[in-house]
Amino acid sequence: MSQSPKGLDLRKVIGLELTLAEYEAELLDGRAYYDSEPLEFECTQCGACCTRAGVVFLTPDDLERIAAHFDVTVPEAVRAWFDGEDDPVITVDDDLGCPFYQDEKCTIHEVKPIQCATYPFWPEVVGTPEAWWVEAAECEGIGRGRKYHAEEVRRLLLGVLMRTDAAK
Ligand code: SF4
Ligand code: SF4
Repeated sequence: MSQSPKGLDLRKVIGLELTLAEYEAELLDGRAYYDSEPLEFECTQCGACCTRAGVVFLTPDDLERIAAHFDVTVPEAVRAWFDGEDDPVITVDDDLGCPFYQDEKCTIHEVKPIQCATYPFWPEVVGTPEAWWVEAAECEGIGRGRKYHAEEVRRLLLGVLMRTDAAK
């Protein structure tokens, strides 16, 4: 199994126990939407994705980066900010939003979790035109801005950020 130096398995699509080839073959029937046309996206910083109830899963690399950012150990960071000791996550509350969302911005922008940094290029969103345009109702940045071509979308699916403006 290939691992990045920081422990992120780059062969697997983020959030799925599948390689990119398996994901495209099994879940997209070999016909990825991002292969048929580039996907347009530009974050408007509206904050909707940081205030929508849900869970942000954290990779070991996310935990190390966030802990280092605050100059604490990973266990200290987990106790202070995350839910679940064995498998820590950020819980985004219905009313309060993400605890890191303050004054209408992400206070850990430079070290934000890979799940946040790759949104909306998630496997359940980019695979089909239906899913992409359904998600547009939640994210006003979808369908505007620069074009993300297939190779770049594939890299984002693997959690590889090619450009800083790929992160919101
Ligand atoms: S990613 Fe989408 S929902 Fe989130 S802040 Fe940017 S435009 Fe808004
Ligand atoms: S960590 Fe930052 S980008 Fe992710 S949900 Fe929280 S405020 Fe938003």
